[in-house]
Amino acid sequence: MPIQKKITIAIDGFSSCGKSTLAKAMAHDLGYIFIDSGAMYRAITLFCYKNKYVDEQFIDEEKIIKSLKNISIHFEYNSNTSKLEVTLNNENIEKEIRNLTISNLVSKVASIKEVRQKLVNEQQKIGENGGIVMDGRDIGSVVFPNAELKFFVTADPKVRANRRFLELNDPNVSLKDVAKNLKERDFLDSTRAESPLIQTEDAIVIDNSELTQDEQLLIALKYHKECIDYLTQFPKKK
Ligand code: C5P
Repeated sequence: MPIQKKITIAIDGFSSCGKSTLAKAMAHDLGYIFIDSGAMYRAITLFCYKNKYVDEQFIDEEKIIKSLKNISIHFEYNSNTSKLEVTLNNENIEKEIRNLTISNLVSKVASIKEVRQKLVNEQQKIGENGGIVMDGRDIGSVVFPNAELKFFVTADPKVRANRRFLELNDPNVSLKDVAKNLKERDFLDSTRAESPLIQTEDAIVIDNSELTQDEQLLIALKYHKECIDYLTQFPKKK
């Protein structure tokens, strides 16, 4: 059997619409690397929050930009969960970055040009050999504009808030808090000057409001197969 070509898959969309779930499942099925680019923005935000460069009322962009050279972000494999987890200066921070404090600050930090330049650069290096599924906001538009397969995932805002609320499972966080955070991040992420969230023309839209995770995965894998068949027939597509 011929060795199947490994391509680059970009998955973009609004917050909590199931992008990472889909990316993770596709990567698992295809034997690809999965990278959650949002975790990298969250890691920088955690660093800035701990150093008091950002909070709900204030942001010191100059200090954030100066500190970027001291921030090193990597992914390490957790054999218990079979997942890549994010590290900040060699400390595993996978859990810490998911709390609502960081969720409320991350879009502010992610709007800084220099922060984006650093992370886009690192993301491109991680993906330079293909065989990767990366999810985020600017993956198909900026990080991998030549990705062979691009998805734009969306879901009803109420469905998204409810899913995130159940996933957080934090007695101190209400459904209303989660819905507010998603609405604010949607707004900031799609209106910022630096590489805002957009749906590229070549992206396949999947609205998963009424789909199960398995149904969504099957749809995406069908597109992957079509893409591979096409590339086999017309190798110089791009
Ligand atoms: O994907 P997740 O919701 O964890 O991302 C957290 C935040 O990081 C987003 O709301 C967005 O502000 C930022 N982000 C980004 N570009 C990416 C991934 C995430 O700006 N590629």
